Amino acid sequence: MTQVSERLNRLSESATLAMARKTRELKAEGKNIIGLSLGEPDFNTPDFIKDAAKEGIDQNYTSYTPVEGYADLKEAVINKFKRDNGLVYGMDQIVVSTGAKQSIANVMLSLVNPGDEVIVPAPYWVTYEEIVKLAEGTPVVIETSIDNDFKITAKELEEAITPKTKLMIFSSPCNPTGSLYSKEELRALADVIVKHPDLIVISDEIYEHINFVGKHQSLAQFNDVFDQVVTVNGLSKAFAMTGWRLGYIGAPSWIAKACIKMQGQVTSGTCSIAQRAAIAALNADPSVTHEMRDAFKRRRDFVLTELNKMEGVNINVPEGAFYVFPDVSSFFGKSNGDTKIQNADDLTMYLLMEAEVATVTGNAFGNKNCIRISYAASDEELKEAMQRIDKALSKLK
Ligand code: PMP
Repeated sequence: MTQVSERLNRLSESATLAMARKTRELKAEGKNIIGLSLGEPDFNTPDFIKDAAKEGIDQNYTSYTPVEGYADLKEAVINKFKRDNGLVYGMDQIVVSTGAKQSIANVMLSLVNPGDEVIVPAPYWVTYEEIVKLAEGTPVVIETSIDNDFKITAKELEEAITPKTKLMIFSSPCNPTGSLYSKEELRALADVIVKHPDLIVISDEIYEHINFVGKHQSLAQFNDVFDQVVTVNGLSKAFAMTGWRLGYIGAPSWIAKACIKMQGQVTSGTCSIAQRAAIAALNADPSVTHEMRDAFKRRRDFVLTELNKMEGVNINVPEGAFYVFPDVSSFFGKSNGDTKIQNADDLTMYLLMEAEVATVTGNAFGNKNCIRISYAASDEELKEAMQRIDKALSKLK
């Protein structure tokens, strides 16, 4: 009998996408579900970026593209890294891919041998662990606590490193916790990284522009670790361009070369039209992203205030991205009629059925006590959702 590969069987279905599918099914049945499960800005792509894409089509940018991206796009990426992050990359250090997700997969598949360890601080973006598994690596999870804003310390990193450690991957601003590493915290991690010159760190900075407290800090800013860091970024979150599929890396040239080889056999260069649009987006003044950031901050403040009023909900103050990650473990063991809540999975299912609000279990992000609520939704939806969640939670006895 023909069967799917063991490689495929090792992968889990994305919990975020599974929740989105369930939401669609319930909506089709006529239920008025408010979807707060997806990591997707609810804005349209700015017009000047759409115009650049239209021009690209009219100018016949329709053929295969160089695997690593158009040269003028790579220049725009280099300028962006210099302008926004103080990072100086050369042309042989940039690779453009079909979303930051592919950028990360390229690095992982190009560097990890079976059995290599990859350090993943939890809570983490669901896909990290799955790509490690795809690359036949072993995820080594560092647990964090809400008391330290879900961040790892230099000591914890040091303790997780073994002779088998190949990579570490983390995001700041973090999906799902909204936490940001400060310059000092990154410096402390860099002090450990520099002591392990074979360790490569993937610094996922896709939420760079959704930062409510100050200047974004890149790990690669520290010269002593620059050659050990792959900086990942993309257009999805900052410019509301999730469907355009464009991400990029700045990396040591040997890693960039490896990613180009990998990508050349899997997808080739990303969409020509998305690349023309990306040039306009990256060359624009970063202030074009501020309107969305300000809207997210307003919503963050609202959701935080409402959740803080709810008894039993324990929450950190997210400083970026567009998620809150409340600890809901005080509800475990409680019931509403026949529905008993034993864990975060049960609670998200209860909120879906009782409050008709879709969220995602913290289990998908490597945390058993929390749920993730995305506030990339309209003010009206968020207001209604918070009322419904409050009512449903207060029925749990
Ligand atoms: N990194 C993180 C932390 C994310 O949350 C996401 C999107 N959910 C990505 C990377 C992938 O972004 P892209 O759309 O560019 O593939």
